[in-house]
Amino acid sequence: MDFLTKELENLKASGLYRTLRTIEGPQGPRVKIDGKDVVLLCSNNYLGIADHPRLKEAAIKAIERYGVGSGASRLVSGTMKLHEELEERIARFKGTEAALVFNSGYTANTSVIPALVWHGDIVFSDRLNHASIIDGCALSRAELKRYPHKDVEGLERLLKVVSGQWPVVGNNVSRLTSHISRQLIVTDSVFSMDGDIAPLPEIVTLAKKYGAMVMVDDAHATGVLGKTGKGSLEHFGLECEENIIQMGTLGKALGTFGAYIAGSRELIDYLTNKARGFIFSTSLPPFVLASAIAAIDLVEDEPELRQALWKKTWYLKKWLDSMGFDTMGSETPIIPVFIGDTGKTMEFSRRLLEEGVFVSGIRPPTVPEGKSRLRATVMANHSYDDLDMALDAFSKVGRELCLIS
Ligand SMILES: *Cc1c(COP(=O)(O)O)cnc(C)c1O
Repeated sequence: MDFLTKELENLKASGLYRTLRTIEGPQGPRVKIDGKDVVLLCSNNYLGIADHPRLKEAAIKAIERYGVGSGASRLVSGTMKLHEELEERIARFKGTEAALVFNSGYTANTSVIPALVWHGDIVFSDRLNHASIIDGCALSRAELKRYPHKDVEGLERLLKVVSGQWPVVGNNVSRLTSHISRQLIVTDSVFSMDGDIAPLPEIVTLAKKYGAMVMVDDAHATGVLGKTGKGSLEHFGLECEENIIQMGTLGKALGTFGAYIAGSRELIDYLTNKARGFIFSTSLPPFVLASAIAAIDLVEDEPELRQALWKKTWYLKKWLDSMGFDTMGSETPIIPVFIGDTGKTMEFSRRLLEEGVFVSGIRPPTVPEGKSRLRATVMANHSYDDLDMALDAFSKVGRELCLIS
C-alpha cells in the first residue's frame, strides 16, 4: 500500500492536498469554525433555506409517519407515496409531463448520459462542464467531442464535421447495425465554478438543425434562474421541447438533497428502465422527499427569497469588481475571484478565514491548471453587514497579497 503515502506526498508537494473543514451549526450565513464565528460565503444553499422551519417541519412529520429509510431501490421494494408526490410536484413546478428523482446530481448525470448515448453515439460537451457530466460521458463510452467554453460556433463546427461524416462512415459496423447513431449536446446552464450562463437558445437551435438531443444541467439554476425560479429554460423563455432533457438538483438552492430529471412521460418511463443509478441504488429516504416538496412550495410562495439573493449578488459583485478583482464574467450568485496561482489562492483563502470569512479556494483538478480562484457564493439571508465584512476582508487580504492596489 506504499502508493497511498506516495500519492499523498505528491499532492502535498504540489499544493493540491485537500482536507475537510469542520463547521458547527446549519449552513447559515454565519457558522462557527474552531469556535470562531465566521461569514459562510461558499455554500450553494443560495436561498438560505437548508434550515428553514417549513423544510424541517416537513422532514420531521415524514419521519414520524414513514420512518427514516426507503428500504431498497424503488423497482424492488416499491415506490413510496412521497416519491410520487415529489415527482408530481417537480413536474408541476417545471411545467413538464413528468419527472424522476435521483439520489444526487452526480448520480443523475452518471446514470442518464449513459442511458441516452453509448458506443457508436456522439456526445458534445462544454469544456467547463461539471465533473459528474465528464464522468457520465466517460461511462457512456460514446465518442466525446468537447467544445470550447460557451463557443456556439465551435460547437457547430463539430456538429457539421460529424454530420458530414455520415455518408462515409459506412464501414462503422456499430453505426450500421446496432442502432441509429444518436447525438447529445450536454451543458451546465450555470457553470459551477465560473458562475456564467450557457448560451442555451443558440444551443437549442443548433440541436434542432442537426437532430441532436440537449441535456441541460440546472444544478445551480433551479430555484435561482428565471422569473419564478424554474431554471434556465424559464430564464431564456424557452419551451421544454421533446429533445430537451432537464436535470436539476435539490441540494443547492432547494436546500435539501437529491436530483431530478424533468421531461416527457416517455423519457421518464425510459429512464426508469435504463438509468442504472436509479435502478441499482436505494432510493431517497422519505424525510428528504418531504423536505424537497416543502422547498418547492417555498420557492413558489416566497419569490422575495430569490429577489433578495439577486440584490445581494449584484451588491457583492459590484464592489468586488470596483476593488479591481477579476470576477470572470460571473452572471449569477456564484462569484469567482480569479487568482491563477494555486499557492496564492490557498493563502488568500486561509487569510480570509483569519479575517472571519470562509471562502474556499478552487484549484485543479476542479478547474484547469493556472486558473485557481476563490469561489464566493451569496445566500438570500446574508445581511449587508455580512457582505460588508466579507468585502473588507477581500480588500485587506487582496492588498496584502498584491492582487489589487
Ligand atoms: C453540484 C453539481 C452536480 C452534482 O449534484 P449533487 O447533487 O451535489 O451530486 C451536478 N452538476 C453540477 C453542474 C453541479 O454543480
